[in-house]
Amino acid sequence: MLAFTAGRLLTPTDAVEHPLVLVEQGRVLEISARSGQQAPAGISVTDFGDGVMAPGYVDLHIHGSAGYDVMDDTAEALPAIEQLLARHGVTSYFPTTVSAPMDTTLRALERLADAIEKREQNNNKKDDVKRRSLPLGIHLEGPFISHARRGVHPPENLLAPKLSTFEQFWQAARGRIRIMTIAPELEGAPEVIAEAARRGVCVSLGHSDADFEAAGRGIAAGARHATHTFNAMRPLDHRRPGILGAVLTDGRVSADIIADGVHLDPAIVKLFAEAKGPERTVLITDAISATGMPDGRYRLGRFEVDVRDGKCMADGKLAGSVLTMDRAVRNLARFAEWDLPQAIAAASRNPARAARIANKGVLTMGADADFVVLSAAGEVLRSFIGGVECSS
Ligand SMILES: [Zn+2]
Repeated sequence: MLAFTAGRLLTPTDAVEHPLVLVEQGRVLEISARSGQQAPAGISVTDFGDGVMAPGYVDLHIHGSAGYDVMDDTAEALPAIEQLLARHGVTSYFPTTVSAPMDTTLRALERLADAIEKREQNNNKKDDVKRRSLPLGIHLEGPFISHARRGVHPPENLLAPKLSTFEQFWQAARGRIRIMTIAPELEGAPEVIAEAARRGVCVSLGHSDADFEAAGRGIAAGARHATHTFNAMRPLDHRRPGILGAVLTDGRVSADIIADGVHLDPAIVKLFAEAKGPERTVLITDAISATGMPDGRYRLGRFEVDVRDGKCMADGKLAGSVLTMDRAVRNLARFAEWDLPQAIAAASRNPARAARIANKGVLTMGADADFVVLSAAGEVLRSFIGGVECSS
């Protein structure tokens, strides 16, 4: 058994002052106020001083970090990415593909499924050290997206949604696709949305030029989330509300944003946060390989991306970000004038819920002991997965 104490614990929405947290076999056994509870005899307590314990962050949308892309065919890629993620408080994540030639995508899905399964098997071993961010499933960002709103996804690799094509991806990924971004206005999209939702995939509307009605048909078919809201979407118009009108007003739909101060003006982040509220606002990074690296030229899919001053540009368009989740949390708190627990929930509980992952994103009894220790200002000091500290 492991025991931890800190100045404060956030579940994320409830606060426990001077908590005592007991962890057994990677799960939270008990959380109590320290004054009322002693650690069991013979158990040493790790003391985080006046640090704040909060659930580990969950990133639904990440292409890479530390010089690597999740689609890279090299054994070093995922470990390097996962180590950097953990350092920024992300204890679990969904490696995200970009549209690519069919065989490239299928091979990447197979490799990612292998990696996820390998980590799962190791996690079940008692003596395993869980020191890097855990991949929980795959986010398939293309190819069922709109030519008009493709961002930097190569036009020649976009495909019309078809059940048979989805099935090919599903087989290659051995059912590990947990999130899929799709443009609901494309012919065939409602059928693919319905089937993916039936299989438990979080279907997310994005890279879309949909009008209000087509977005509504996507939601009716089972879509329950939206991808980098405002970016790569038909803009909001007061007489033709379009996809944004649907996403921002439908209470069934959660939505994510890139709160790096580049993709969205801070005023739009505040508007978004007020529309979706503290339960349905989700933070993502959309980070690319350049994250955690010096400015320069990097790759995203087949594009060269020019990275300078926190901005990633390819082909005259924004191409992902170099945002880290700890910074996204602090930005959301500042831009939306939210308190830290609300901003933390948007990086932990809310994404876990959107992806239908139980036992993660909260720090409560029975949940996985994936947590961060934060300074009062929200900086990540330490990260733990299953009660074991991540190496930095
Ligand atoms: Zn995108």
